Amino acid sequence: MYDVIVSGAGPAGSVAAYHCAKLGLSTLLLERGDIPRPKCCAGGMLLRALSCLPFDLPPDVVQKEIKGFVMQIGDYRREFDFQESVGVVVKREMLDSFLARQAEKEGATMWTSSGVSEVVESDNTVQVTTSQGVVEGRTMIVAEGATSRSARQLFGDYPKEQLAMGMATNVSFASDVGNAIEIHLIGTPTAHFRFRTGFPLNGWMFPHVRGANIGAVGLGATKQQLLDAVETIKRLVVARHGSILSSDGISAHPIPIAPRKVLHSQRALAVGDAAGLANPITGEGMTYAFTSGRLAATAVKAAVEHGNAPAAFREYEARCRDAMIRDLRAAALLSPVLHRLVGVVDTRKFLENFHQEDELVKACLEIAQGRAKWQLLARLAIPRFPRLFFSSLR
Ligand SMILES: Cc1cc2nc3c(=O)[nH]c(=O)nc-3n(C[C@H](O)[C@H](O)[C@H](O)COP(=O)(O)OP(=O)(O)OC[C@H]3O[C@@H](n4cnc5c(N)ncnc54)[C@H](O)[C@@H]3O)c2cc1C
Repeated sequence: MYDVIVSGAGPAGSVAAYHCAKLGLSTLLLERGDIPRPKCCAGGMLLRALSCLPFDLPPDVVQKEIKGFVMQIGDYRREFDFQESVGVVVKREMLDSFLARQAEKEGATMWTSSGVSEVVESDNTVQVTTSQGVVEGRTMIVAEGATSRSARQLFGDYPKEQLAMGMATNVSFASDVGNAIEIHLIGTPTAHFRFRTGFPLNGWMFPHVRGANIGAVGLGATKQQLLDAVETIKRLVVARHGSILSSDGISAHPIPIAPRKVLHSQRALAVGDAAGLANPITGEGMTYAFTSGRLAATAVKAAVEHGNAPAAFREYEARCRDAMIRDLRAAALLSPVLHRLVGVVDTRKFLENFHQEDELVKACLEIAQGRAKWQLLARLAIPRFPRLFFSSLR
């Protein structure tokens, strides 16, 4: 019998398994696919994500160090040159296999090609059916991502209307495309009024060595809208950097934009995307995957040591609220405001005005670096909102 069975070897599961093993727990990490395995992701890791990891990333995992940020609407570009590092871009298959290796090095047992199909909890154990047979653990950490079957079974359905959809592809160029990440606002504002709140359709270009990750995300966006957005961004990037030499296939994956109401059952905890922990403004999930993975390991250790899983798991939920969920709620408050704003004002004017607001720009930099939280931006933005709004009207 294992102290803990971790289901899913993405960032949340591998980091949870690493911490569990480090705390001396017998740990089984189950992954339904192979390692490395492809994952649809832009691969942006801000310093705040990196600072949640208990080790440095090796150079072969890092594609680019990021020092700048560009907001782009069609041909219009507003550059924010931070002149200091705000994070890195990674290829997910490299990152994920590095993280899984760290868990194994620390003593976790890893089974690949071992998808979990059923979980049965009793008072003292959890019985997990995998494609390799049935295993038993004292506790379980569910880290199966946004479409997690075990999370659905243990914690209930996740609301479909809170799943944004993302699409991404890796492309290569003859030369480098710089060290700034680009966010492209698609079909916003200037074109038409739209009052539907939520996650606005936007896309990105995140630089790699002689290449980039290009993608788009939106809440309620159709597959065709996302494909069109990716093509639009490709055209804009090609216009600046020359033709694309090769392109991986395009893949799609959902992003949860609100935390689950319940993060634990009797003997199991949810972490990362399976817990609904991703940012409703940026779609970023790795900071929350790493943080929840670490907090889950601490809770499992307490549960195994004191034999009181329900108390330890309630404490896990409280810690998640303090460390992440309050801040995600602040971001969720800002998200529709920003969306409404870009639907009403002249977004280009707004970005020029925003660029002049030193305190807001500094707050964004500090959030990226993990030195401030979204609550700070909400606090600074609210009193400035009328000025920014009226000065940005067409
Ligand atoms: C297009 C797109 C772009 C994104 N860009 C960024 C970004 O730039 N920065 C950022 O921080 N975040 C980004 N995200 C979000 C980020 O990818 C997720 O938040 C992150 O991957 C969550 O990690 P996780 O470990 O919880 O889940 P996942 O990475 O989804 O890992 C889940 C793992 O569980 C395995 N699994 C699933 N079911 C089972 C099962 N039944 N049994 C066993 N194993 C199972 C899967 O194979 C997978 O390996 C992006 C997401 C998308 C879709």
